[in-house]
Amino acid sequence: MAVSGIPLLDDKYPVTMDMWPVEDEQFNRIYQFYDNLKEGKFTTTKCKSCGYVSWPPRVLCPECYAEELEWTELPKRGKVLTFSEEVRGVPLGFESPLIHAWIDLGQKSPIKKFLSRIINCPAGKLKEGDEVQFVVFDIPAHPKEVKRETVMSERVFFAFEPVEK
Ligand SMILES: [Zn+2]
Repeated sequence: MAVSGIPLLDDKYPVTMDMWPVEDEQFNRIYQFYDNLKEGKFTTTKCKSCGYVSWPPRVLCPECYAEELEWTELPKRGKVLTFSEEVRGVPLGFESPLIHAWIDLGQKSPIKKFLSRIINCPAGKLKEGDEVQFVVFDIPAHPKEVKRETVMSERVFFAFEPVEK
């Protein structure tokens, strides 16, 4: 994991500065979510027993405690309800502006309001009511041991971005 501006850490993996989840099947019970992300799919879990759709994805239904869950897709477009924009003093690892928005995913979505980071958007540009779309991006790989060899495990994460007009 490269850390820009800290030469001491070049080519090193500073685990204490890794803010991203470890996504592999060996480490994460919702690894399927990240596998789906790698295919560009925006998914979450739905209870096979009571039909409750959770966000974030779960391994257990928070409504009826059933363990049989299935993956369901969420809408990849929505409208900005409200947002915050940090321009100065953003945390290490993030670039300015750091924007977070509540997004209306529409009437058909089981999750109506969704909180997400907004990327690919200059400061001062976003407005309430703007249309945004789901986007998947690469994040730094992390090392893992496979048969006594250290290999880098590729990772992705998601955000929303403004729809070009
Ligand atoms: Zn349930």
